[in-house]
Amino acid sequence: MPASAADCVRGCVRMMRYVSLLVAACLVLLAACQGPADNTQLTIDPDRCIACGKCEEVCPYGAVEVIDGEAVIDPVLCHFCFRCVEVCPEGAIY
Ligand code: SF4
Ligand code: SF4
Repeated sequence: MPASAADCVRGCVRMMRYVSLLVAACLVLLAACQGPADNTQLTIDPDRCIACGKCEEVCPYGAVEVIDGEAVIDPVLCHFCFRCVEVCPEGAIY
């Protein structure tokens, strides 16, 4: 038996409620994944860095470079693989 126009409207309204809930859930998840803005970049402590260059050697993306005796990370190139963090003998990257 074909559905009436009223049934179709009710079905559409119900479906839109579900879609709205799904979109809201996705937005909440996205916000949680992104995290706070100050957690989107690694930091190098200049007082700890001894300019050994190990972070530069190990970075697969060319995102870290020792310049004037101090390691510097390019946040645009960094993929957060944390290899530099693991290899740093001074614990200078976090
Ligand atoms: S590995 Fe650590 S100590 Fe060595 S250059 Fe990089 S940040 Fe500095
Ligand atoms: S976290 Fe990975 S990509 Fe980013 S600077 Fe360190 S080694 Fe390079």
